[in-house]
Amino acid sequence: MQEEYHKRALSKSIFNTISDAAEELSLDCYVIGGFVRDYLLQRGIPEDIDIVAVGSGIALAEKVASKLEGKPQVSVFKNFGTAMVKNQDIELEFVGARKESYNRNSRKPIVENGTLADDQKRRDFTINALALSLNKNDFGKLLDPFNGISDLKNQIIRTPLEPGITYSDDPLRMMRAIRFASQLGFKIESKSLAAISENKERLKIISNERIVDELHKILLSKKPSVGLALLHKTGLLPIILPELTALQGIEEVEGQKHKDNFWHTLEVVDNIAETTDNLWLRWAALLHDIGKAPTKKFHKKIGWTFHGHEFVGSKMVYKLFKRLHMPLNEKMKFVQKMVMMSSRPQILSEDFATDSAIRRLVFDAGDHVEDLMTLCEADITTKNQKKQRRYKNNFKVVRQKIKEVEERDHIRNFQPPVSGEEIMETFNLKPCREIGIIKEAIKEAILEGEIPNEYEASKAFMIKKGQELGLTLNG
Ligand code: ATP
Ligand code: MG
Repeated sequence: MQEEYHKRALSKSIFNTISDAAEELSLDCYVIGGFVRDYLLQRGIPEDIDIVAVGSGIALAEKVASKLEGKPQVSVFKNFGTAMVKNQDIELEFVGARKESYNRNSRKPIVENGTLADDQKRRDFTINALALSLNKNDFGKLLDPFNGISDLKNQIIRTPLEPGITYSDDPLRMMRAIRFASQLGFKIESKSLAAISENKERLKIISNERIVDELHKILLSKKPSVGLALLHKTGLLPIILPELTALQGIEEVEGQKHKDNFWHTLEVVDNIAETTDNLWLRWAALLHDIGKAPTKKFHKKIGWTFHGHEFVGSKMVYKLFKRLHMPLNEKMKFVQKMVMMSSRPQILSEDFATDSAIRRLVFDAGDHVEDLMTLCEADITTKNQKKQRRYKNNFKVVRQKIKEVEERDHIRNFQPPVSGEEIMETFNLKPCREIGIIKEAIKEAILEGEIPNEYEASKAFMIKKGQELGLTLNG
């Protein structure tokens, strides 16, 4: 029965091709790792498939490629003893079975050839050490030396070997453990969790790029707070994102408290994960309050304030991205903008929002106005049902007004209806300060609703404004 089920995992014709190739080379080979795990969890068929060969993985890759239609290219990574073949939308990774031993100062192990069992031992988690045979004599047989199947059923992340050694050997595994816990909703075995806390300082030998890859996966999981809380609990978070740890805690002065902005942030990230898969919007949710730690102040009369935290926070986004070697491109700018504007819709929704305030919001947010609204709605974490309902309803009103103003005034991708050249021609000007003043006045008049966002009205306004400035019409 089970054999049949496991065989079904291998129903793609590619597995027969690999099996044939291995037989011709007289070597054994197995599918291992993520593919097997995700198949058994019914998470859909992954696009990357890892094949381990007892012998040369590179030779097997070349043999397989020669049998495939179009004879795809083999990318060989000699230093790692691995090879990659792309077949349609599947990436096949071939590696020779190996035995590894580690040295304290790097995550690069000393590698020797080994058996399948040796290779399974060097895998990070029992659920990632599961292998399915591709050999003719026992095709589809599951090899599970560390009870990975029972860990899959019980939803446990456990290391095949002593966790202290596993994490110290390759500290990236600490991030991976937490990432899998977040992605799969699994528990990390308590011995393992303790070992992560003990080895947390070793994370410093891991490159920022690797760490960020795992952070992305945590943020993209269904409930990112699972992973973020584990990073916090194990003490990894202050090493990676001290800006977030700094938000933790509630201070009380003269009976006045503020909320714990760290746990609030985690709730906001979970909320936004329910409405968007946009990684960068999720980053914005994670970072939207980081300016609150450095701007926090207590005033006798008004209590706690975080004046200018949006501006300070958006500056911090740049430093944080830079430190973690994240892209400093339009993605970063988007996150900065979201952080910078993160209180704007709130203010609007509490007050009676005038059309001009809405137009300014749309003008400043541009194409990102919907993302901004999504962020601000996720920011509602009050446990008071009445307030919760009131805030949500206020946002509905703001959204409706945005829609109306947009349909009428088309502010979103604002282009000045009258160009600089036309101003120069009208008043017979060479490039000068007055042109900028007039352009700005037209923009302001449109945003304030004094004139519609149209050519004729703007031209008339331009003439009036120019005359006020003492300019004379051409001709
Ligand atoms: P995903 O592809 O969803 O990230 P995965 O488990 O397939 O998950 P990969 O990075 O593709 O992860 O690695 C493939 C396999 O290689 C893993 O399943 C695991 O067996 C092994 N592996 C990857 N990284 C490590 C590591 N740092 N230490 C030990 N084994 C690892
Ligand atoms: Mg994988």
